[in-house]
Amino acid sequence: MTPLTQRERTKIPRQKMPEQDPVVRRGNFNEVALGFTEELMLAEANRCLQCERPHCVEGCPVGVLIPQFIRALREGDIVGAVAAMKVKNSLPAICGRVCPQETQCEARCVLAKKGEPVAIGRLERYVGDYELAMRTCPLERKPSTGKKVAVVGTGPAGLTCAVDVAREGHDVVMFESLHAPGGVLIYGIPEFRLPKSVVQAEIDYAVECLGIQIHTDHVIGRTLTLTELLAEYDAVFLGTGAGLPSFMRIPGINYNGVMSANEFLTRVNLMKGYLFPEYDTPVKVGKKVAVIGAGNVAMDAARCALRLQTLQGKGGEVHIVYRRSRDEVPARAEEVHHAEEEGVIFDFLTNPVEILGDEKGNVVGMRCIRMELGEPDASGRRSPVPVPGSEFEMEVDMVIFALGTSPNPLVFVDAEGLQRTKHGTVVVKDEETGRTTMPRVWAGGDVVTGAATVVSAMGAGKRAAADINRFLAGQGTDW
Ligand code: FAD
Ligand code: SF4
Ligand code: SF4
Repeated sequence: MTPLTQRERTKIPRQKMPEQDPVVRRGNFNEVALGFTEELMLAEANRCLQCERPHCVEGCPVGVLIPQFIRALREGDIVGAVAAMKVKNSLPAICGRVCPQETQCEARCVLAKKGEPVAIGRLERYVGDYELAMRTCPLERKPSTGKKVAVVGTGPAGLTCAVDVAREGHDVVMFESLHAPGGVLIYGIPEFRLPKSVVQAEIDYAVECLGIQIHTDHVIGRTLTLTELLAEYDAVFLGTGAGLPSFMRIPGINYNGVMSANEFLTRVNLMKGYLFPEYDTPVKVGKKVAVIGAGNVAMDAARCALRLQTLQGKGGEVHIVYRRSRDEVPARAEEVHHAEEEGVIFDFLTNPVEILGDEKGNVVGMRCIRMELGEPDASGRRSPVPVPGSEFEMEVDMVIFALGTSPNPLVFVDAEGLQRTKHGTVVVKDEETGRTTMPRVWAGGDVVTGAATVVSAMGAGKRAAADINRFLAGQGTDW
């Protein structure tokens, strides 16, 4: 077959990924986006212009070899596509599903100027899913060095670091405070966006191929401290994330029915609350739920609440209450679109000032105020200011706060010399190595940056692993 000309390639429309119907998916936790068929994958891969200077790669925090993996795909060499992908990204089935591509790789694609970038994330998911099923690119471990490394936290930062350190032949032990590994990938991001079987398969594979040990139910700072770990291990990596939720300081915050998005999502995802009584943790959902905030976490909480209402036969409403306007919404465009399709109601330029309760202490409503946008703040976004005299009451029986998170300070007990910022994040001496101010302790992911993305956490884990490997080989041992 004659190869397509560049002009012909630009005429192919961006391929849509098949999805579950919004009305049907409102009543289940199955994955919403169903993945490309081979035909759709080939059509999409044929859109790539194989640019000599591929700006898409600059937009990816881990520098995935995008043109190379797409070229292999369209030449029918899927094993080659997996190999090209794995040079920089060990978790493509996860990143292909959850990366905010529209602000990263796809934002920099030359075709983005016309509004239709190559669907890099969807192609990446295709490659990742193939690799999960076929395992063409085995993880191999070099002969044992006898060196021991502790990795605290089993989210994307910890997992990536553990894999790269173990491949070098070092013995890796991971410590996780929850009863299951995976961090936000397991307890936060819902099943309908990222099936837990995908995450579990990646963890099991790393354990099986590389002999990584995982100790769950171990809270570092309580069960063992950082200083105690340093006495036993040659190096320690901290990837403990930013799981401590923020609340508003308004009256009524302690009523029954007020919770953080992290608690709600943990009950739903990690404890499988939506499968009660098959699993033993029920999760209560209101008939009229308000989720405060408009980031990815808020969208996830709102979409879970909607599904629970349907499954529990309650009907009802779920509102996203956000103090700025639609233009400032920080969540991924796709998540907002999916939430709207499913029936989540958006109340923009609205802020709660008090949560109202009945005599039994249950939430019965929220007093809110209308907002308008004033001057830009430090983030460059126009700050919301209250409109005088615009207060009103909203009837709700559940309020979920999704207003951002910070690192849980428990891990810093008995960690002398470990410097932190005023926001509670760990200071690293330079981003390229992830070395902290405490000798033999590295850190990366949300515990350093504050709440960020899966792929940026993976990138930090990878860079720290490279430096740990150099350090354990006797290079750069001055701290
Ligand atoms: P985490 O994933 O938070 O993992 C840290 C782990 O450390 C946790 O398992 C925690 O239990 C454990 N831990 C904490 N303290 C201790 C201790 N003292 N001892 C032992 N273990 C400890 N990003 C995207 O790119 N795309 C998305 O669509 C997206 N959606 C999100 C949705 C939700 C609901 C949330 C909460 C986040 C989302 N993010 C998303 C952000 C992304 O998940 C995080 O940036 C990423 O998981 C950070 O990885 P990490 O490894 O640094 O930390
Ligand atoms: Fe894009 Fe994420 Fe893949 Fe990088 S890892 S190419 S940002 S989807
Ligand atoms: Fe392909 Fe777009 Fe990257 Fe060019 S910028 S190589 S068209 S994905």
